[in-house]
Amino acid sequence: MDSDNAELKNITMDNISMLFKADDNGLINAVGKRYILMGISNCAILGEQIRTRIGSSAYKGLVYCAAKQAGISMGEGVSELIKGGTVEDLAKTAGMVGTVAGWGRFEFPELHIDRAKLSGNSIVRLYNGWEASAFLSEFGQSDEPVCPYTAGFIAGVGAGIVGAEALKEMDDDVDCIETKCMCKGDDYCEFLVTTHSEYMKRRMGDWSECGEK
Ligand SMILES: [Zn+2]
Repeated sequence: MDSDNAELKNITMDNISMLFKADDNGLINAVGKRYILMGISNCAILGEQIRTRIGSSAYKGLVYCAAKQAGISMGEGVSELIKGGTVEDLAKTAGMVGTVAGWGRFEFPELHIDRAKLSGNSIVRLYNGWEASAFLSEFGQSDEPVCPYTAGFIAGVGAGIVGAEALKEMDDDVDCIETKCMCKGDDYCEFLVTTHSEYMKRRMGDWSECGEK
């Protein structure tokens, strides 16, 4: 964590925005990581290139798992920003970081992830999600949710907030299923954040599990 982040006292959209300004060397360092700005159509086209080569199911599994790793860093970074914060504080701060970074506007209708025993489900709602917007603008509507990167990232943030040690003790993990998607005609994308065991029962399609070949 760099000193700027460590000194962040009041977590608001405005002071999170201050973290995302490039310095004179062209570096944006926020929440412990370097960031870049990139057009969402670039991501859509990259995704399509991969999807056509390896197939839709493998693509979703690959992207979900890669995003989950990135999300863990974000969850841990936010936990550093607000030491001792509740799950609700940390999730909402991560949502603000996502909004400032242009991912869309997050809402949290339900937050029930329990650090002590990892029970309960949470619901994360995302308006104007970048991944759905990118897909819609390049390829149009879809019969199924199209945001595996966002789902994986949210899962990772949840896992990062609960913490690797606690997850190891509980022998479980945090995962996420997209249940509504702008590309299906819903007003927003919605994600169920749940335990790994529940995810394995309810996941949609034939996604590979992270770590599976
Ligand atoms: Zn979506």
